[in-house]
Amino acid sequence: MAQAIDAIIRSGMRSGRLPPFSKGHQLFGGSGGGDTCSCCGESITQTDVQYEVDFGHHEVPLRMHLRCYQICYGETKASTSRNAQLS
Ligand SMILES: [Zn+2]
Repeated sequence: MAQAIDAIIRSGMRSGRLPPFSKGHQLFGGSGGGDTCSCCGESITQTDVQYEVDFGHHEVPLRMHLRCYQICYGETKASTSRNAQLS
């Protein structure tokens, strides 16, 4: 199941649906309120930790699960180091 979320997020980042989570974004943590996660599309319930990520250039901050944020952040770091190795 975690593998499936990884795949959804990776394809979202490749297609540009999700921006790279490099430095410069603001992060707000809290408990979920039933919003839909920008990453995996599932609802963020009150028992979930919700992260709100404001990239500045996005009009509406992205809301996502803590686990989805961690995957996005890890993916950004992984692709950054892949690019660094290529150059
Ligand atoms: Zn999610």
